[in-house]
Amino acid sequence: MDKRLVIAIDGPAGAGKSTLAKMLAKKLNYTYIDTGAMYRALTLKVLNQNVNFKDIDKIIALANSTIIELVNSPFADQPKVLLDGKDVTKEIRDPLVSQHVSLVAKIPEVRKRMLVLQRRIGENGGVVMDGRDVGTVVLPNADLKFFVTADINSRAERRLKDLLNQGYEVDYESVLEELIERDRIDSNREVAPLRPAEDAIFIDTTGSTIQENLDKIVSYIEKKLIQIEGDN
Ligand code: C5P
Repeated sequence: MDKRLVIAIDGPAGAGKSTLAKMLAKKLNYTYIDTGAMYRALTLKVLNQNVNFKDIDKIIALANSTIIELVNSPFADQPKVLLDGKDVTKEIRDPLVSQHVSLVAKIPEVRKRMLVLQRRIGENGGVVMDGRDVGTVVLPNADLKFFVTADINSRAERRLKDLLNQGYEVDYESVLEELIERDRIDSNREVAPLRPAEDAIFIDTTGSTIQENLDKIVSYIEKKLIQIEGDN
């Protein structure tokens, strides 16, 4: 069972995919790549530099001159996100970033730049990558693709709890509104919209525990590894 798989996990905001992807990577001793964190880091830079979100040329120029790194460490629960060398792991979760990130992520040239970085990390295997277009565009040849969903109310409740735990003052209505708006932009953009890959396995996390969902995903992985071993 030496084969190191490429695993894609996509889905809408707040469905629990990053938690699952992170736990899965830890269990398999794979690298976890949060592609959303890369779009968030660029959005933070746009906000910090007071660039207007309508100034597409400026945002593209920023995307092409920004260094975004995801640093995995066996000692931290969460990979570090570095923006031009500075640790922005916490700041990129700010609700202001969440409110604007889809506007940055829908710009085709921004996606092109991120795609190069993401493919470079993903191509060697031993990777769990989560996002919106990982199974469809970034790593279409992934060994396994999951599409993680949940009903909108449980997604909003989960996101609200996360943000309150991090000390942000937010309420259910504003979180719900942000999720709906983000999903709307992510699903309707021209390039790489949020949608399941044809061969994706659906995992609905509504009403189930993280452990139950993780076990389900792990059982698909075990089956896949046995199948690969049988083919060789
Ligand atoms: O995963 P997360 O919710 O942190 O992603 C933030 C945003 O980044 C998404 O709402 C989407 O606009 C963008 N994104 C994307 N493609 C990905 C990952 C994230 O467009 N692969």
